[in-house]
Amino acid sequence: MSHDSILLTPGPLTTSLRTKLAMLRDWGSWDVEFNNVTASVRHSLLKIVDGEDTHIVVPLQGSGTFSVEAAVATLVPTSGHILVLDNGAYCKRAAKLSTLMGRRCTLMPFADHEAVSPAALGEKLAADSSITHVVLIHCETGAGVLNPMQEVADVCAEFNKGLIIDAMSSFAALEIDARKTRFDALIAASGKCLEGVPGMGFVFIRKEVLDKCAGQSQSLAMDLYDQHAYMEKTGQWRFTPPTHVVVALAEAIAQFEEEGGQPARLARYTRNCETLIQGMAALGFKPFLDPAIQAPIIVTFHAPAHPNYEFKRFYDAAKSRGFILYPGKLTQVETFRVGCIGAIGPVEMEQAVHAVALALKDLGIPSGAPA
Ligand SMILES: *Cc1c(COP(=O)(O)O)cnc(C)c1O
Repeated sequence: MSHDSILLTPGPLTTSLRTKLAMLRDWGSWDVEFNNVTASVRHSLLKIVDGEDTHIVVPLQGSGTFSVEAAVATLVPTSGHILVLDNGAYCKRAAKLSTLMGRRCTLMPFADHEAVSPAALGEKLAADSSITHVVLIHCETGAGVLNPMQEVADVCAEFNKGLIIDAMSSFAALEIDARKTRFDALIAASGKCLEGVPGMGFVFIRKEVLDKCAGQSQSLAMDLYDQHAYMEKTGQWRFTPPTHVVVALAEAIAQFEEEGGQPARLARYTRNCETLIQGMAALGFKPFLDPAIQAPIIVTFHAPAHPNYEFKRFYDAAKSRGFILYPGKLTQVETFRVGCIGAIGPVEMEQAVHAVALALKDLGIPSGAPA
């Protein structure tokens, strides 16, 4: 086949031809033309969260995790104490990187099929005054749970704690309003719901906390304070920028705005998610999550109970029809995941369900019903 498979994954994801074509030019990192693209991307990003008056945004080279690590290193002093609200794999990753960087870190465990509890957070903060920062994953991509961001932010504000939000898989699809939701830092990346290509993250930082961040990072390359100061002074990135990723993101943002911004993107992803869940239900598949906490980003399905099921063979059979599925990330139950994000619509989701039906047939599995 000469065309690309449809990526039903949480990034990299399927991008539009316009976004891909934007990468066919070389750019000098010192050149004013490229610096104008960077400035316009930063301006557009701030607009998406209505953070122009209260926040700055700092882009950083690398995958999303690089920006999470940079945010923790820049925001949290080495004497700080981080509480991670843990309902999945990305929460555990945030805790691990915090610990590796020498920050004291406590995990507050929740089940991976439940949202984290703002009330329990309140009790914890009342009981332990040593906690300085809370880390929340907005959409836990591990299972696809939507966590209560506003309520968690309200509790952190009440106790005057710093809040760092990993909004990697929700930014640009779910509503985030910096005027309404108080956070110290919020992290997202180019290759998720903005439908750019992977290669850069960006961190929104509240202006009030920025000055306190000077000299706090133990890392040179991951110091967002320095990255921001240099960019403000020169208009340039501190080190070699991912030029093609930046121009592709600018083009992806133009399409995002033309589509109608975040509400339109949420509406499309919601239709994608509904089409997927309905189609899969007709084949016997059951989603892992209660619909009340299912974000329209990625859906975890229980694996079929049939003894012929094996993820690798199932994956290959769907791939041969042009659809790339995603393995499950849960330790207790056998699952697989299907992303609803990217430059795709309900038509692609219907075709994906058809590919899954054919994959079941290949494997001799009459129904996707779980045990
Ligand atoms: C994708 C994602 C990340 C970043 O993962 P990378 O592989 O480093 O891009 C972080 N947190 C969440 C919730 C994500 O979905």
